[in-house]
Amino acid sequence: MSRLSFMIIVIANQKGGVGKTTTAINLAAALATSKRKVLLIDLDPQSNSSLSFLDPESVNGGAYELFAEPDRPVDELVYDTATENLSIIPARISLAKLEAKLIGDFDAAFKLRDRLEGLKGKFDVILIDTPPTLGILTVNAMVAANHVIIPIQSSYFALEGTDDLLETIEKIRSRPNPDLNLLGVVVTLYDRRTTISHDVESHIRTVFGKKAFKTVISRSVRLEESPAHRKSIFDHAPRSSGATEYHDLSKEVLKRV
Ligand code: ADP
Ligand code: MG
Repeated sequence: MSRLSFMIIVIANQKGGVGKTTTAINLAAALATSKRKVLLIDLDPQSNSSLSFLDPESVNGGAYELFAEPDRPVDELVYDTATENLSIIPARISLAKLEAKLIGDFDAAFKLRDRLEGLKGKFDVILIDTPPTLGILTVNAMVAANHVIIPIQSSYFALEGTDDLLETIEKIRSRPNPDLNLLGVVVTLYDRRTTISHDVESHIRTVFGKKAFKTVISRSVRLEESPAHRKSIFDHAPRSSGATEYHDLSKEVLKRV
């Protein structure tokens, strides 16, 4: 199978609870089952992506050290997961201190990009999960990435805040990273029984047009519970709707990159 070129996708939305982490972990796992070598980088101090794959006891360095210890080899911060072809640079709560540490640092927004240079050739896809802010961690991810995926929860006020998010993407495109591309928006936590979900989905399709992925991620208990088992949806409930939907999303992603 031919190798993809090095591709970095950031999952971003400064709203919490919209399905960023669920999308990051399951899209990463879906891409890994298609024989790509995938690295998931967790940039959220809450560490939910990391905890979905790793026992925190086994971690002694991760995203914080990536930024704060530039001389430490990146390889030391990459951990294998139980999923074949899927590795992770985990987050720990220490990452919450980073913003304060980087204040006044001229190159603050470029740290991640510089560090990922050292991984060129080792992975086909890097997925970055981000915290629910547009702060320095999310900006670092957008400066380093080629693509952004925005998960949008199908609820009232779904689009509240997306203007700020799109403006941030535009700012980053205008200077540090003109190559940054909005790959698409994905509707998450969809409940087909409710009219709100239908209305919000069609509104999102009107606003974003072709940028809206055809695949919609339904609300599912299986998706919610799989991190507690330290498994992606594909190992936890391979026949569930969530597994099918994240598989379909990964196919759409690969078509668009
Ligand atoms: P974010 O990273 O944007 O804060 P999460 O992915 O952590 O969002 O999702 C927030 C909460 O909703 C978590 O408890 C998660 O398990 C749950 N969740 C996310 N997507 C789904 C889904 N499709 N079905 C059911 N629960 C979901
Ligand atoms: Mg999250």
